[in-house]
Parts: sequence; C-alpha cells; structure tokens
Amino acid sequence: MTKALEIPSYSEWNLFTRQTRPLMIAGPCSAETEEQLFKTASLLKNNGIEVLRAGIWKPRTRPNCFEGVGVKGLPWLQNIQRELGMKISTEVANAHHVETALKYGMDMLWIGARSTANPFAVQEIADSLKGVDIPVLVKNPVNPDIELWIGAFERLYLCGITKLGAIHRGFSSYNSTRYRNMPQWQIPIELKRRIKNLPLFCDPSHISGHREYIQEISQKAMDLGFDGLIIESHVNPDCALSDASQQITPDQLNQILTHLVIREEHP
Ligand code: PEP
Ligand code: MN
Repeated sequence: MTKALEIPSYSEWNLFTRQTRPLMIAGPCSAETEEQLFKTASLLKNNGIEVLRAGIWKPRTRPNCFEGVGVKGLPWLQNIQRELGMKISTEVANAHHVETALKYGMDMLWIGARSTANPFAVQEIADSLKGVDIPVLVKNPVNPDIELWIGAFERLYLCGITKLGAIHRGFSSYNSTRYRNMPQWQIPIELKRRIKNLPLFCDPSHISGHREYIQEISQKAMDLGFDGLIIESHVNPDCALSDASQQITPDQLNQILTHLVIREEHP
C-alpha cells in the first residue's frame, strides 16, 4: 500500500491568478488550425479564462477519423502562451507525447480517460515525468473503477509528481442514457474523501455529450463543492472536427459562467 498522498493546494500551481471558484480551464476538444485555436483562445482570454486546453493527439474510439494535428499544433499553443499570456495544456498518452509537449513549454498536462484505464500507459507517463514540476490532471477511467483512478495518482506521486488534480468526465455505459457518460457523482466525491486536498474538476462537456446539458452539470458540480470546470469551447462548434455537439462558443461559455450560482456551504 502506498502511504497517504500529500497533495499541495492548487494555489501552488501558479496557473490561476484569480483564486475564486470555479477554477476554469477551457478550449477546443482539438487544435485544428492555427487560426481556429488563436481565435478561440483570444475570445476566452477576453472573458477572463486563464488556462487553455487543446487536444493535439486525439484518442478516437474508431479509426479513420480525425486523430489530431499532432506535433505541428504545439507551436500554435506556445504562441498563445507568448502572445496572450495564457497557460497552456494538452493531453498526453505516452512518453513520446510527454517529451514533445514539454519541449513546447506546456504549463499543465492531463491524462485522458482511456489512458487512465491502462496502468502500463500511466506508468510510462509517470516515469517520463520524473523531475518535472508541472500540474498533471488525471481523468477518471472510462469504467467506474475508483481503485484504477486512485492507482494512477499513486503511480504519478511515486515518481515525484505532487501537483495533481482530478477530472471527473463521467463513465461509459452500454445502454443509452440522458448523458453521453454517466456522472455517478458518488465516485468523485469518494475520491476526494480518499485523497485529501486533491483539486477536483468537472468536465461537463464529456459527461453531457451535448451542449444543452452543460449548464445543469456545471451547476451540479458547483453545488457538490468541485473546485473547477474544464469545458470544451470552439469558435465554430458545429464545424468542429471532434466532439462537435458538445462544444460551445466562448460567448456561450461566458453566459453559463455568469449564471452559475456558487454557494459557500457544500454537503
Ligand atoms: C478530451 O478531453 O477531448 C477527451 C478525449 O476526453 P476523454 O479522455 O474524457 O474522453
Ligand atoms: Mn473532446
């Protein structure tokens, strides 16, 4: 058994200057073109979003669809960091992704739901991050297995990565349900009980699968005391090359955030 993880507060991450809830990460599912990414980022930045997300390598369920622009998109992210002063983050699924992403100055990385379900992938990522002091967010595995999720945090922690955070993106089901992925809120709540101080983000985009549910899921996360949200936003969501139906414009995101009710007391 690994001893209790001592996780620093997100205030030590140096990513969010306005330390009010919710901590916000937003950006397109995928970086598609330099223009799409820069336009989206500029609008998000104007609305006060400080941390950009954009997928460069996309883990698609079936082959022969858009699998990300790959390494050529990393300088686009770096340019946004330089020009707009935003913090930049992307998904990594193996050691090569980690090494390449770090060369282009990522401020934060995340591990996707399919990778969290694979201990070999998580171990490889953790090993390649030894000596690197940036925050790493871990999405829940696609299946509702809390031990697998905790195991990913332990693998990273044992390699010296302590700036850890969790992303709740829901759990897949064979049956069709209202949402694309079932929230099963009790699982992230139990995770936070098991790993003290672990910053907890909700990803309403991948839970919902559809933009009309993003407001209600975001509100639920706030009511449950989540620390932040990671939401997919695209200048032209209907034309997005991945996850089109769940992406929202930066303006729609702003509307959602404006209407969120943040309560001081949580269950
Ligand atoms: C994503 O963030 O675009 C993504 C692929 O998410 P997930 O790993 O949650 O499916
Ligand atoms: Mn996506």
